[in-house]
Amino acid sequence: MKVIDLRSDTVTRPGEAMRDAMYAASVGDDVYGEDPTVNALQRRLADDLGFEAGLFVPSGTQSNLLALLAHCERGDEYIVGMDAHTYKFEGGGAAVLGSIQPQPIVQAEDGSLPLDRVAAAIKPVDPHFARTRLLALENTWHGRTLPLDYLREAGELARAHGLGYHLDGARLFNAAVARGVPAREIARHFDSVSVCLSKGLGAPVGSVLVGTQALIDKARRWRKVCGGG
Ligand SMILES: *Cc1c(COP(=O)(O)O)cnc(C)c1O
Repeated sequence: MKVIDLRSDTVTRPGEAMRDAMYAASVGDDVYGEDPTVNALQRRLADDLGFEAGLFVPSGTQSNLLALLAHCERGDEYIVGMDAHTYKFEGGGAAVLGSIQPQPIVQAEDGSLPLDRVAAAIKPVDPHFARTRLLALENTWHGRTLPLDYLREAGELARAHGLGYHLDGARLFNAAVARGVPAREIARHFDSVSVCLSKGLGAPVGSVLVGTQALIDKARRWRKVCGGG
């Protein structure tokens, strides 16, 4: 009997063509920026999604962590969904490793963070408060996709308050298929996007973080600190 394992889309495996491609890939030292395959992958994702630069990392958890560390400093805060992966399923890494405080918001049914709640959670500049620096969304979230209008409005709110805007797009390509738009139509609203290669795409490991060159330079340094070089 042929069993289809539906526990997670992480149990997907590379096919023959992917194994052949891995076997034949040109490789080099990525810490020196000399792995031609990694460089091509980073370039490809950055170009496809409309960003200056990309960074290959071992996991989606590390990709999101590096984004948070690159957007925020010690004592800063990010606004995030109560059931979002970056808050609930990453071991509290932003707080543990980055001294970054999460400000969770209860998500609506579709996974959006109600914008009046987000606005109310942005702290005034005052020594009593952590400095609110970032709004982090997730798309898809539990199989649901965020409306494109919502992505634009949330981005406008973030920008109006000087916040960065990050997307945990572990399944960005699923969201793009579901919405019938190119992935960059979703990604373009954000300052940084993390995508998983190991979710249904069959890659054994890895995620790519895309953003501005300056943000990716910071993330690259943090990747080394996190042991992801
Ligand atoms: C899987 C997943 C991640 C993290 O990926 P890992 O590679 O398992 O660390 C992040 N965000 C979401 C929404 C995910 O589903």
